[in-house]
Amino acid sequence: MEYILINSYPNYVEAHIARGVLEEEGIHCWLRDENTVTIDPILTNAVGGIKLMVEKSQAQRAANLLADLRKEHKASVACPQCGSHNIEQVSTPRKAINWLSSLLTFFLGDYAMAIDKVNHCFDCGHEFPGEKEPGD
Ligand SMILES: [Zn+2]
Repeated sequence: MEYILINSYPNYVEAHIARGVLEEEGIHCWLRDENTVTIDPILTNAVGGIKLMVEKSQAQRAANLLADLRKEHKASVACPQCGSHNIEQVSTPRKAINWLSSLLTFFLGDYAMAIDKVNHCFDCGHEFPGEKEPGD
């Protein structure tokens, strides 16, 4: 079987949610560079994140499912300031001064916290903390 890159993710949690959704639909997929990113978060940008690889003949269906997933997530988040759903979640790698705390967090087992998440509202510019993904 031939696999192609369909999306990439800055962290383990998002990559696994996406893979779970596709697998539930019977789509063959796997995560590339997962070990690199999980062992050394600093390398995440260098390798371009965790890559979701999908079997070529199922790629179009997978793309549709991932688009639905993003839409669902978007609809569930509203700006606390203006109520808009025009929200995009952005990842903010911690500043150098927080590197040690990221490292500690990593060794304590909660790797997902190594990258800060904020929701950015495109209507009023307000930024607020990212919500936990469903299932956490
Ligand atoms: Zn807003």
